[in-house]
Amino acid sequence: MDIYNQISNEIQGAKNIVVTAHKGPDGDAIGSALAMFHLLKKMKKNVALCLPDDAPQYLKSLVGTDEILLFDKNPELIKEKLFEANLIFCLDYNAPDRLGNEMGEELLKSKAKRILIDHHPNPVDFCDITYSDVSSCSTAQLVYEVIEHTGNKELLNHDIAAPIYLGLVTDTGSFRFPSVSARTHEIVAELIKSGLQHHLIHEQVFDTNTVSKLQLRGYAIAEKLELVANTPVGVITLTKQELGRFNYQSGDTDGLVNTILSISGVDVACLMIEKTDGVKISFRSKGNYYVNELASSHFSGGGHKYAAGGFFAGKLEDALVVFKALIPNYFMK
Ligand code: 5GP
Ligand code: MN
Repeated sequence: MDIYNQISNEIQGAKNIVVTAHKGPDGDAIGSALAMFHLLKKMKKNVALCLPDDAPQYLKSLVGTDEILLFDKNPELIKEKLFEANLIFCLDYNAPDRLGNEMGEELLKSKAKRILIDHHPNPVDFCDITYSDVSSCSTAQLVYEVIEHTGNKELLNHDIAAPIYLGLVTDTGSFRFPSVSARTHEIVAELIKSGLQHHLIHEQVFDTNTVSKLQLRGYAIAEKLELVANTPVGVITLTKQELGRFNYQSGDTDGLVNTILSISGVDVACLMIEKTDGVKISFRSKGNYYVNELASSHFSGGGHKYAAGGFFAGKLEDALVVFKALIPNYFMK
């Protein structure tokens, strides 16, 4: 039986379904999860959308975001949903700890069948059905494939198409990365035919900046950018105090790492953000430089070849020292 039939059978047989996506959800995580949530609702399933924590505001004007249950706000309710579930979708992550340790453990405790739909390398074997395609530009694309190949294309409407498009546009840098295929554009065509108003998603994602967000970016580029001499590396670090000065809201530094990468001569970009318990690190790269190995080996993280992230449990200045010391091993011109 092909994977779509297996997924279809599991959905048919399940009464209570939970949809999950990774911690610190990006557009692909929240888009894939919302699309699956709306699809299952249209299929008359009893479905809960459970995330470890919330998404930034600019990703949240889609239909259904007010129905998202958050583990960091209401862990007991989510434990109950996971306990009652017959089927759990694991979207846009490749290991249970990407839900955070506590929710990850709850996921594994549940007796429900688990279906993974994801495009990150090296998926851990924790699901009953693993639909992993590293060549796919996004998990949203794979969710679309599931919808089409399980014979549910006629259920597509704006509520399902819009979050799929959100996932596609955010995980592909607006359809520019090499991972975009002819199939990606065919899918967009199908979404538009089903009633998607794609410009609304672009406006929501790209035209909802606050002044303080733009000022923070301006400050970061003007005052904090370091081009590491004789290397293809550009780095920005931001302290809590600097973030506070610009009234930092979650999501305000999203995309800043890509701005570093957009500089001519920069092929590896690193953004370090100071948090209460350590440093959140984002890496981006292009060409022959890959960042996922560095992120997983040295910063307890992971990701894709050209977009990865991790965490440093220590001081911001120490994170920078550690990263710079690794540059000769990973990224020399
Ligand atoms: P971002 O820089 O946007 O936070 O993350 C870029 C990509 O890196 C994400 O899509 C995800 O695949 C990966 N990533 C970021 N943080 C982590 C982490 O802490 N652990 C793992 N395994 N992957 C991460
Ligand atoms: Mn993704």
